Amino acid sequence: MIGVAILGATGSIGRSTLAVIDAHPDEYRVVALAARSDAARMAELCLRHRPDVAVMEQSESAGELEKRLRKAGSGTRVAAGAEAIEELAQQPSAEVVMAAISGAAGLRSSIAAAAAGKRLLIANKESVVMAGELLLAAAQAGGATLIPIDSDHNATFQCLPAGARIGERAPGVRRLLLTASGGPFLDWQAPAMARATPEQACAHPRWSMGRKISVDSATLMNKGLELIEATVLFGVEARDVSVVIHPQSIIHSLVEYLDGSVLAQMGAPDMRTPIAQGLAWPARISAGVEFLDLTKVGTLDFRAPDRERFPCLGLAEAAARSGSLACTWLNAADEIAVQAFLDKQLNFGDIPGVIDSVMESAPGGPMSDLNAVLGIDALARERARAVLSERASGHRTSA
Ligand code: NAD
Ligand code: MG
Repeated sequence: MIGVAILGATGSIGRSTLAVIDAHPDEYRVVALAARSDAARMAELCLRHRPDVAVMEQSESAGELEKRLRKAGSGTRVAAGAEAIEELAQQPSAEVVMAAISGAAGLRSSIAAAAAGKRLLIANKESVVMAGELLLAAAQAGGATLIPIDSDHNATFQCLPAGARIGERAPGVRRLLLTASGGPFLDWQAPAMARATPEQACAHPRWSMGRKISVDSATLMNKGLELIEATVLFGVEARDVSVVIHPQSIIHSLVEYLDGSVLAQMGAPDMRTPIAQGLAWPARISAGVEFLDLTKVGTLDFRAPDRERFPCLGLAEAAARSGSLACTWLNAADEIAVQAFLDKQLNFGDIPGVIDSVMESAPGGPMSDLNAVLGIDALARERARAVLSERASGHRTSA
């Protein structure tokens, strides 16, 4: 039995991971679950999957979970707080850790799992973007195996030669091609996009995901973050990664080799496929997904991204060229801008402008240690909040 800990268990990736594990009760056992605040949902998950321990980041939610579980006669131990999540990521009974917390909040636990030598299924792209070098170093020091779960990077991983090492450029690779569906606003005009609501931005045509990544998909910042993630995970430069719009989301990414061969990974757009690949690697197990019928798909379309309507892609490319601290800064600016949009404090069309203003003060160069990265992250958030309030007061004056 392989013990699995799931960080971000109540989210979209967490639930898909539990669905795959559910289909293989003789091979995998859920040993630990963690999430932020949804105690009701966590209680349901605990009663169904019977982990040894469940952690809620918010202490009031942990109290509520404790009550619910004791009432139901569950034996799952309950703990609270971010430190308890880091401990959970290192606990000996977990051979595999799924890092599926959303945002920078996932960084410490991803690094903890890497340092503890786990098989780390890394869905939390923000930790790769904001501290990729540190994550790779922790994995190397701890003897961890990193497996990319983001569909694009999992696809790339599958198209690389057997034995390719995470963080190193595989021989013979000319270019990586990341596909993007283009999100809900692919064919919208700029003025309509500028006024789009959170509900419209989160209504992704192909994937059902958490709200933060859904907004990032609508601005194409998601693909920008993924471009940075690809440079870290596959040891390539930003100029060696191209983005192609592919609205059907059937090809999840491609690797172009020096001899002109291009290998693609295809499948229905369902995260259970990369999750099952990561859980079982190098073996294969069923994921419970619909199998691909190419005759039903019919046509696969490709086009270049429209960089004018989607300036976030260029912002991410510029950060990737400036160095890893600029990527930390970009990630933080994006999280604050997206949250302001979700809170209806910022128009969709103003997200790139806010990030751009914050990037003017971004530091360049490589990163030193985790505390330095967390300091940069905090500064960038402060700067982003200042930009937001400057804009709000500017709008009041001009109104
Ligand atoms: P989600 O919003 O559905 O779920 C997020 C999970 O993280 C929840 O369980 C939440 O409780 C937990 N969480 C949030 N803040 C936390 C904190 N401070 N401490 C502890 N737990 C916290 O998000 P999602 O769509 O499942 O995405 C998770 C991660 O996977 C993100 O980094 C996202 O970019 C990445 N990812 C998601 C998809 C997808 O299809 N959903 C695809 C590729 C990559
Ligand atoms: Mg992706």
